[in-house]
Parts: sequence; structure tokens; C-alpha cells
Amino acid sequence: MAGRINDEDITAVRDRAKIEDVIGAYVALRNAGGGSLKGLCPFHDEKTPSFQVTPSRGFFYCFGCGEGGDVITFMQKIDNLSFAEAIERLADRVGIQLRYTEDAGPRPEPGLRSRLMDAHRQAAEFFAEQLSGPDAIAGRQFLAERGFDRESAERFGVGFAPRSGRALADHLRGRGFRDTELVAAGLVRENGYDFFRGRLLWPIRDSGRQVVGFGARRIFDDDRIPAKYINTPETDLYKKSQVLYGLDLARKQIGKKSQAVIVEGYTDVMAAHLSGVDTAVASCGTAFGDDHARLLQRLMGNHDAFRGEVIFTFDGDAAGQAAALKVFGGDQNFIAQTYVAVEPTGLDPCDLRLQHGEAAVRELVARRVPLYRFVMNNVLSQYDLDRADGRLSALRAAAPLVGSIRDTGLVGGYARELAGLLGMDPEEVRQEVMRAASKASRHTAGAQPRNGNSAPEIEASPKDDLPKLPDPRDRMLATERETAKLLVQAPHLFRPGWDGLSVDDFTHPAYAAVFTSAEKALAQQGAGDWIHRIAAAAEHDQIRTLIASLAVEPLPVQGEVEDRFVVAHSAGLQLLTVMRQISELKSRLQRTNPVESPTKYNQMFSELVVLEARRKELQSRSLGALD
Ligand SMILES: [Zn+2]
Repeated sequence: MAGRINDEDITAVRDRAKIEDVIGAYVALRNAGGGSLKGLCPFHDEKTPSFQVTPSRGFFYCFGCGEGGDVITFMQKIDNLSFAEAIERLADRVGIQLRYTEDAGPRPEPGLRSRLMDAHRQAAEFFAEQLSGPDAIAGRQFLAERGFDRESAERFGVGFAPRSGRALADHLRGRGFRDTELVAAGLVRENGYDFFRGRLLWPIRDSGRQVVGFGARRIFDDDRIPAKYINTPETDLYKKSQVLYGLDLARKQIGKKSQAVIVEGYTDVMAAHLSGVDTAVASCGTAFGDDHARLLQRLMGNHDAFRGEVIFTFDGDAAGQAAALKVFGGDQNFIAQTYVAVEPTGLDPCDLRLQHGEAAVRELVARRVPLYRFVMNNVLSQYDLDRADGRLSALRAAAPLVGSIRDTGLVGGYARELAGLLGMDPEEVRQEVMRAASKASRHTAGAQPRNGNSAPEIEASPKDDLPKLPDPRDRMLATERETAKLLVQAPHLFRPGWDGLSVDDFTHPAYAAVFTSAEKALAQQGAGDWIHRIAAAAEHDQIRTLIASLAVEPLPVQGEVEDRFVVAHSAGLQLLTVMRQISELKSRLQRTNPVESPTKYNQMFSELVVLEARRKELQSRSLGALD
């Protein structure tokens, strides 16, 4: 049924597409001698390169996981393509016009993935054209106010989605796309309207330079979606945990310089590149995560001596510091390469370029410091180092940080550095660090998570009566963490009395402490903004750290937080409490003999009835809120 691609053409594609160039677009390859190249395998997780490419033979092979094949196999595997799709993609790349065997009927319909990519490419062209239309004045103004002229808008492919809501759908239908394809691409909604309406758009490309999605900025006051930024929904093409805006522009330089600069938004990426920071990328609609880190590591490769730098630009306030601490909780291998570039004025790269010029953006990146030093300085700054007991407390707070570094080769250096900062005996500091490290490994030995990639628990104090900070990724505590986040970020959306929440609804002592601090802060009616008040009401430093991270972590919600979201969480958390109480009571009932102690039994039974009614009520409240 399917038309076949002419065999000669397949051979021509295989010959003409240089395997080192094709793979080099995804993996940083370095000379390994003997005519071979080496890099970090894109198919499994590794720290030392075992992925080998031999251009003279046109093959790749990974000694770690056993993946291997020719350039076509590579394309199929890396981008999940059919054989024909891989050939078509490579043919485009090397400029070969494919012929299809005639006897097998008409040209086969390309795979869905290719169709979605084609739809995105045409959508990006359409949106870019719309930016010069009369409808898009507000969009052009937005760009101009941020120092972007027409030429830079074109360079970054910035576009405008017409307000009518049908323009793109009509355009693409006219080009032969079916509604099902447009919905699958995330370009059109189920109801037939364009996904993006009246917004400024940035095309998001994969590392092969194909448009796979868009980021969209609100520019009209009457936009019915309140969120400032929205993105293409998750599709076969667009996975937000794996895309980085600007990667298509930065990819080559990231490999060449072994450096990547992470900024926050689309305009920051533009400003950075225009200022000469050509390794800048941004995550799209989600926090920078482990998948992003792995993607960059592959592009940078691993040299023996120099491992590459990933530089995060944070502003210098509490939120930025908390964000740094959050990065700290991620993949350990990544940390040694992680740097922080802090702008003391708090300006993001876009505003920095606008107010102080392009050199200021380059200087920001040049001022980077290792994340470890940044975090260590933050911890130390909370203590009075002029006093002996202050230095000792600071040492006890900082030692677990240094002790948590898994790369033991680095521990010694950081311990010496810490000794220098504290003005203490290096040997004393080293011993404290070792103590903290062995304590940490005892703590985690019994509870390795599924992927063996646990976040280091940051124990800021050796005293046992202080609550240890919970792992942010603990699924069992997800509702608690989200509710605590809402207490910090959206207190005004709770009904009086915190929607019926009590401290007992929080099973983790640290989250319970956040709730207690919120109650206290509310009762004190003090001055200052809410987050500072709640932090001030906290009893321990590490609860303040937790509050800061809760203040900056994104809520899992598209757009503005609404009160129904709060209701769903507060009711959901109370529901968990009631369910715990029910199971306890049931177990006690089972152990009670109704004949021997009828009064006790009946009392417990009526308690159970009350709890069951409450369970039903909370269940419908938490579910109903999300309808
Ligand atoms: Zn491999």
C-alpha cells in the first residue's frame, strides 16, 4: 500500500548525510583517536563518554547501553521517527529530492509527527507575518518598549496570533491540514478555535531547529486567559520538561564553549543573544529540571579536566536565593558545574540591557560564582562570625552542605574553603564535614527512592529537635506541600480560619511549622508583606528557608490561582486526615468486642458514622472545586 522511497535515493541520503554532523547536532563529540569520536550517550544516562561514532564507517555504537546503527537508525531512535520519516528528514538536510517507486501507488502519507512539524513550521510563518499587521500594534509596542527592533523580532521569529480566533485554523485548513491534526499539534482547541488568540508568540524549536511549540505573552487587557504566559500544551512534539527556548540558536556555542546560561524568559533569551551571550536558553512554562540538565550536559560533553559551566541568572533577593537552593536539591552530578550569576540591582537580562546596555549583560554572566559558594555564603551570612559560638553554629550549618557533595574529589577543597571563610582550623572543619557526610549517608541508606537519584536533605542544624526539611519530590507529601505553598503564596484566597485546616492536617513537622507560622503571622497583623511576616514568625532558620522555597516554587496551575484551587487543596488535605482517623478507628473497632464492651463499641461506631459523613463532604468539596 505504501509507496517506497527509491533505493538509490536511500543510499544517496546515507552517503551524503555525514553521521558526525547529524549526531553532532545532538551530542557534543570529541576526537577519541583512531578516527573515532566520543560523546555522552543520548540514549542512557552517563557521566563518562562511552558513545562512539566512526565517521569512516558511518556507524555509531554505545559501549554503555549497546545502542548502535547508522545515521538513519540514529535519527529514528533520537526523534522517534519511522524509517521513511528519518530518510525524509535527512534528505531535506542534504538537499536530495526523493523519488518514490511508482508501481507502489501514490506517495505515502508522511507520519503524524512529520505532519505536526509541518503544521508548526507553517504556523510559525503565519504568525510572523501577522506581526506587521494593523492588529498587532500592541505586540510591536511591547517589543519596542523592551528594546527589540523589527530586525531582532525577525531574527527570533517573534509572531502575533490574531484576535479573531479562527485565523490560524482557517489558514492551515486551507493548506490541507485536518482538524484532528491541528488539535493533536496543540495549535487548535477541541472547539475549533485557535489555541493562541491575541498574543505575542515566540516559536520554540527543538535542537534540530524544528518548531515544536510556542510561548505566548498576554498583551491585551481583555484577554480571557489571565496568565501572563501560556505555552503549547503537551503533545507528541512538545514536552515542556525537554524543551529549552533558544536552544536552536545556542546549541553550537554551548558545545564550543562548554557553557550554558539559563535565563528566565523569552525576552531575556533575546536580550542575552543580542548582547553577545550566545549560550543563553530558558525553560518554557516550567522550572528548569533534571531532563533539561541532562540535555545540556550532552551538548557540552564531558572533558576530563573541565566539565562545563551551567550558569543560572538569579536576582539577588530571597526568592533568587531560594531558587538557588532548589537547584541545589536536584541532580548532584550537575551541581559541581552549576554557577550563579546574581544581579545586585535585581534586573533581569532584558531590563539590564535596556537600562545599562549590552556590556552589562555580558558582565552579569562574567560575575558568576559556583553555586556551592553562593549557597555556603548564604548559610554563613545568618550567623555572627565575630563570635566563637557563632562560628561554631555556622560550621554545623554549613558542614552538611559540603558533606552532601558526592564527588569526593571536591569535598576537600570546599572544606578548606569553608575553613577559610570561617577563620577556623581546616582539620576541625574537615572532621565536622566528614561527620555530617556519614550522618547523611546513614539517613538515606534505608530510603533510596525509585530512581536512586535522591535530593540531598539539607540539614541546617545538627540538633535533633529541629524539624528536618522534607524532600520536595515526596509524593506522599505532595498535598501538604502544595497547601503550604498556597498558605505562603495565596493566603487571601482561603476562607476565614484557613478553610478549616488545622496544624494536625500536616503530618510533616516542617509543613506543620509553616502552618503555625502562618497562624501566628495572621494574629500579629504586623507590618511588611505577607511572606516576610510569615518568615519572621517562623521559629527556626530552616523553616524560613522552606518558606522561601515555597514562595518561589510554581503552583501546578495554568494561569492565575483561583479560590477553587485553594478549596480543592485544603479540603483534600483534611480528607487525608479524616481517612487516617477512619482507618485507625476501624482497626480499634476490630479489636473491640461488642458483647463485652457494648457502650465503648457503640460510641466508636457512632464516631465512625460521623467521620464517614465528613469524609464524603470533604471528598465532594475537593473534587467539586476542580470541576
Ligand atoms: Zn548508551
